Amino acid sequence: MTELSRRIAAKRDDLVALTQDLIRIPTLNPPGEHYRAICELLHDRLAARGFTCEMVRAEGAPGDSDRYPRWNLVARREGSRPGDCVHFNSHHDVVEVGHGWTRDPFGGALEGDRIYGRGACDMKGGLAASVIAAEAFLEEHADFAGAIEISATADEESGGYGGVAYLAEKGWFDPARVQHVIIPEPLDKDRICLGHRGGWWAEIETKGEIAHGSMPFLGDCAVRHMGAVLAAFEERLFPAMAARHTAMPVVPEGARQSTMNINSIHGGQPEQPADFDGLPAHCVPDSCRIVIDRRFLVEETVEGVRDEVIALLDDLKARRETFDYEIRELNRVIPSMTSREAPVVTTVTEAIRAELGVEATYVASPGSYDQKHIDRIGKLKNCIAYGPGILELAHKPDEWVGVTDMLDSARVMGRSLETLLLR
Ligand SMILES: [Zn+2]
Repeated sequence: MTELSRRIAAKRDDLVALTQDLIRIPTLNPPGEHYRAICELLHDRLAARGFTCEMVRAEGAPGDSDRYPRWNLVARREGSRPGDCVHFNSHHDVVEVGHGWTRDPFGGALEGDRIYGRGACDMKGGLAASVIAAEAFLEEHADFAGAIEISATADEESGGYGGVAYLAEKGWFDPARVQHVIIPEPLDKDRICLGHRGGWWAEIETKGEIAHGSMPFLGDCAVRHMGAVLAAFEERLFPAMAARHTAMPVVPEGARQSTMNINSIHGGQPEQPADFDGLPAHCVPDSCRIVIDRRFLVEETVEGVRDEVIALLDDLKARRETFDYEIRELNRVIPSMTSREAPVVTTVTEAIRAELGVEATYVASPGSYDQKHIDRIGKLKNCIAYGPGILELAHKPDEWVGVTDMLDSARVMGRSLETLLLR
């Protein structure tokens, strides 16, 4: 064990208390509760340790209002000489509690080696581990090159537009000021997440003509047209996607191909309130809508993904009488994949080997996280997700994070700081 590792191990109680304090601020998203409180807690702690702290509100971002302001914190501690900046980015928001809890979701109970609470693993445990790692490094090394940054950002769980995307647009992730980014998402302490698949979301509407339900031949049923769309997906799109495999090490393995979820379907009359006990009127539906969630691979392009769906719809239009449709893109996320040779990857790989005595496993995420904004907006490619916690526990009831896992990953983060900043 190095001096720094010993120092981190000795901070166990501090780490537990910080994780509990973070969990006890219920930063629920939506709507975006208590963002300012959690940023202030970190601001006060890090400012007392020599960090320059800035509170940044993502004004005008989706969801930002005076009632629910989108607050972010960026803390920076300069070294004594020029060098690289290592940035730890954690989102501070958590998802709804849901049912099935046997512990207080915002109690932060410590039971044995586990701390329970919403956000314990995703990702207040990772945030706390990075704070402890940075603080221990600063105590151990008065003289270091470059800078350390720690950010706590809003809204990752709803796309990151009020958090990392906003900061990236304002230049906070400019490669001229930040060179290495570690996002302590819960990926397990011996795994390095290199990136994520892309996503393309769209609403498709088929058109019809309303008529009396007893004489459907006088109208045109939009639901039947949508049936033809779904049949074409089954016959052509799903098999084509299943045949498309990626070199990305996505986990779980089922996501190593292109996938698509049909998120919702609705046709005909609007649904009535639950207490309405009348009967439906007899009408031919003139509209049917679905929302699709298409996840794609680094080997595909978003244009290709979109064009494939449109070509299928245009083919139906050519073959099927009176078929007409509209398509509206809802959102797009470009895949991100950091090279295994990138300096942050080789550094953390070596630190995992030295601290934990195992070889790192490389993975990629089926869904996306804030790396997309750092890559696409920030133009910063030297970025990974690495942090404590078991991914499968995220968003579940009785979510927990292991104290030993947090300490182990904090040692890996600390050693990585030594590699990158002591030169
Ligand atoms: Zn997360």
